[in-house]
Amino acid sequence: MPSSSSTDATTGADPAAEPQTADRYAAFARSPLGRRVVPGLGLPDPVPLRRDTPGAPLAPGPVLVTGLVGTDGHEHVGGAAGVAAAELAAVGADVVRRDALAHVDRLGGLVVDATTAGSPADLVGLVGACTPVLRRLARGAHVVVLGLDPAALPGGATAAARVAQRGLEGFTRSLGKEVGGGRTVQLVLLRGRGVDVVGSTLRFLLSGRSAFVSGQVVRVGDPVHDLPPAEQARGPHPLSGRRAVVTGAARGIGASIARLLVARGAEVVLVDVPAAADALAATARSVGGAPLVLDITSDLAPGRLAEHCERAGGVDVVVHNAGITRDRRLRNMRPDAFAAVLDVNVGAPLRLTEHLLGAGLLGRGGRVVGVSSLAGIAGNDGQTSYAASKAGVIGMVDALAPVAAAAGATVNAVAPGFVETRMTAAVPPLTRQLGRRLASLGQGGLPVDVAEAIAWLAEPASAGVDGQVLRVCGQSLLGA
Ligand code: NAD
Repeated sequence: MPSSSSTDATTGADPAAEPQTADRYAAFARSPLGRRVVPGLGLPDPVPLRRDTPGAPLAPGPVLVTGLVGTDGHEHVGGAAGVAAAELAAVGADVVRRDALAHVDRLGGLVVDATTAGSPADLVGLVGACTPVLRRLARGAHVVVLGLDPAALPGGATAAARVAQRGLEGFTRSLGKEVGGGRTVQLVLLRGRGVDVVGSTLRFLLSGRSAFVSGQVVRVGDPVHDLPPAEQARGPHPLSGRRAVVTGAARGIGASIARLLVARGAEVVLVDVPAAADALAATARSVGGAPLVLDITSDLAPGRLAEHCERAGGVDVVVHNAGITRDRRLRNMRPDAFAAVLDVNVGAPLRLTEHLLGAGLLGRGGRVVGVSSLAGIAGNDGQTSYAASKAGVIGMVDALAPVAAAAGATVNAVAPGFVETRMTAAVPPLTRQLGRRLASLGQGGLPVDVAEAIAWLAEPASAGVDGQVLRVCGQSLLGA
């Protein structure tokens, strides 16, 4: 839906553009009666999530940075803990270490450096690190465990070290299901020089920008290009000076992405089909971007987009958000409908990206972000075409990330789960309730949650995050 409502210039939030979540269960659970009965009965508890607001601190309280703590009480601190503490302190977070815990009532975040785990038995140190403080985590506090990517450990690494580091994944995914209260838990796996460039990822995962991301594994490795100056990376406009293109931006998630990228400092071109030209113009006006009427599936689209970018002096960020569904069970499927879904959702993004890379328009510092879906990971009844196309988006990331990295650009994707949009408002009521409640966070996400993940990937400081697919799904059980 095009929006002509006012936009918050700092967060890009446009509450009027978000659909009213007709989530009656959430409304009940948040009512005085619901607050009394829901937690006691062990029902899903969709508490309001802590989302980013202008000027809000990174975390809702001090952030404890700790190593693993053995049964003898000894803390094993790796180099990653020091880096994390410095990165968080640099953006004003109140970082505390274990020896200062006595002075802290509620923690706003927890970072556990588990990179020192060299054998399965070392994982017991997670109990020493986490258990004493879990009850002190504020609502909406975020937990990040730092590990080493088992697939990228040096050749001399022992099997025991690989086992221990792989074990962190089960730990974090399970803790994500336990913590409740809008708290989230993620695992960041470092590889190569990843520890040197982990700052943007820590800031994203500990802040309200990742409110609807939980139980995920993010790999941070060698940056594909040099990082920007720290002041720009840590400031409120990390995308300033960046030129971005967002497809399917006339409404819904695409409009939200465009709005947030503008709020973070980017110049944004909003693309949509001729039939949506009026809505596109209104949205572009509302978010402060420029409209480009273009059907991405047309033969002329790669050339026209390249021309447009060339005139603007190049492009830094391309977000392939445009998407369609033509849902039917396969026994009733028409080939032309199946083909249309494949072409809009993945065929055209592939052609456009290859053209821009080939023309040298997407180079050093470039970012390509695809929009996949949980359906592309888990499959869905009646969605063979959509799921094939969205799995294809993940294939595009796998195929093009190495090519783009050679040019100094990254290729990633986000995979949204249930997001409150016009699309999901049309889903049958029971399926809709199920979609929301299957998430550990017990609710659907908002378009801005998808936009936040994309804005993080688009930052120049995220040069060490490449070839990945981040689920923005509140830790849904689907495909997990
Ligand atoms: P939407 O239908 O509201 O918006 C999609 C936009 O893409 C529309 O403005 C449409 O005109 C545009 N578009 C379609 N074909 C195009 C073409 N050929 N060229 C240019 N633009 C075109 O959808 P949404 O709910 O905002 O979803 C956005 C993206 O997120 C889609 O890729 C969708 O598959 C994905 N997604 C959505 C959800 C959800 O819960 N809503 C979940 C997972 C993934």
